[in-house]
Amino acid sequence: MIVPKLPSTTKESKVNHFMTLNPWPRIGDWSTFEALAKLQNEAVGRTVSVARQSPFYEQRLSAGVKFSDIPLTSKEDLRNGYPYAFLAIPRHEVATYHESSGTTGQPIASFQTEADWRECVDRFTRGAARLNRDDWVLVKTPYSMATTAHQMHNAALMCGATIVPADNRTSMMSYPRVLHLLSSLGISVTWSLPSEPLFWAAAAWARGLEPTDVGKSLRAFVVAGEPIGPAKRKRISEIWGAPVVEDYGSTETTSLAGECCEGVLHPWADRFLMEIYDPLTGTIARHGRGQLLVTTLYREAMPLIRYNLEDIVELWDEPCSCGWVLPKIRVLGRPSSLTGNTAIELNQSSIDEVVYRLPMEFRALFWRGVMADNRLRLEIEAEPAVMQECGRHLRQELEKNLGIPAEVLAVPHGALVSREFLLRETPFVKPRFLCSSLDEWEQGLICQ
Ligand SMILES: [Zn+2]
Repeated sequence: MIVPKLPSTTKESKVNHFMTLNPWPRIGDWSTFEALAKLQNEAVGRTVSVARQSPFYEQRLSAGVKFSDIPLTSKEDLRNGYPYAFLAIPRHEVATYHESSGTTGQPIASFQTEADWRECVDRFTRGAARLNRDDWVLVKTPYSMATTAHQMHNAALMCGATIVPADNRTSMMSYPRVLHLLSSLGISVTWSLPSEPLFWAAAAWARGLEPTDVGKSLRAFVVAGEPIGPAKRKRISEIWGAPVVEDYGSTETTSLAGECCEGVLHPWADRFLMEIYDPLTGTIARHGRGQLLVTTLYREAMPLIRYNLEDIVELWDEPCSCGWVLPKIRVLGRPSSLTGNTAIELNQSSIDEVVYRLPMEFRALFWRGVMADNRLRLEIEAEPAVMQECGRHLRQELEKNLGIPAEVLAVPHGALVSREFLLRETPFVKPRFLCSSLDEWEQGLICQ
C-alpha cells in the first residue's frame, strides 16, 4: 500500500481550522450576481492554496499562479492519481472513502472529511423536497463505494427524518419488497435514479396494484444520476400522484445543483465555481453551453480545480421567483448523438421526451432503440389492446419531433422487462458451514 506523505504540522493545523475560520456561505448572504461572483473569486484563492497540499496539485500549481492560467483537471488525471494523489489532508482526517466505478479501467477515488459531509448536506437539503422530521425516506441508491446513498442518508439524519436504508443492486431489495416498504411504512420521500419509479410502477401493475394505492404517503421522488426531461417527470408524477424533484451531482463532487420551489434547477454557485468549456475552441467562460468545469470552494479532503465532468450543460444568470440569487442550469448529459450527423441531436433524453408524452393508457414505460442504416429502430412495451395504435402513434411522433425515419415495434408488457425480473424475490442466505439434523444438508455452504 502506498501511504501518502503526511503534511507538516503547520499544514495540518491549517486544515483543522479551515472550516471554523471560514464557514461556508448561506443563501441570503449575497443579494446580487455581482456579489456572488465576488464571493466566488475570494474563495478560489483559498481553494488553490489548500489544493496545493495534495500531491497532484503540489506538482501542477506553482505558487502565485493565476486562476485563469490553471489547466483543466481531467477524469484521466483522477484515474491516474488513484488512490491518493488528490488527497489534501492527512489520512487520519478522512471520514469516508468512496470510488466511482467508471466504465473502464481504474476507478476514481474520492475522500470526505466530517466537515465536507456537513457542507454537502447543508447545500443538498436546500432542494425543494425540504426534508423534515415527519419524513420516512427510502434511500434506494447504492451504499457501496459511491457517495449517493450516504448523501441522502446524512441529509435525512440532519433533518431529523427517518431513514430506510434500502440500497440498490442487492438481492435483498427486490421490487416486491420496495412496494411492501412504500405501502406498509408510509414512505414519504424516495431517493433513486429517475427510472426507478417506473420499475416500481411496472412491478405494481404486474401484481394488479395501482401505484397511487401503494405509495399513498409519497410526497416527493428525489432523483439524480441521469438526465430527466419534462415528459418523463410528468409521467412519473401522473403514475404515482407525487412530484419529482431533481438533483444533479457526481460521486467526486456530491450535489452540484438542486431544484428550488419553482421547479428550477440551480447550481450551488456559492459552494462551487462553475465554468463552461468549449472543447472545440478551448475557450472557458462563466456562462453558456458546453462541458461543465467545477472548482470546489469549501472542500477539505479533496479540493478539485477546473475538474471537467464532461457533462454538457447550459448555465446562465437570471433572476428566479424563488428568491435565490443563483444561476440556472440545464443538464444535457453526455454528448451521445447516435446518428453521426451533428445536425440531428439524438440521445436517450430526446427519445424519452417523445415516449413519455404518449397517452397514459398505453402504459408505455420501457423502450429500447438502435440506429441502423440512418433509421431509428425502436421497441416499446405497451398494453396488449393498444399495441398497434401505440406503435403507429410513436412512429409518427418520433419522425415529426426528431426528423429521422423510425421503425417502431410495440411489444406486450414483459417482452423487454420480464415479469420474473419485476417480481423475483431472492432472499440472501448466509453461507452455512454446519447443518443440524433438521436442516437440508444439501443446502449447506452453497454460494452460487
Ligand atoms: Zn429558483
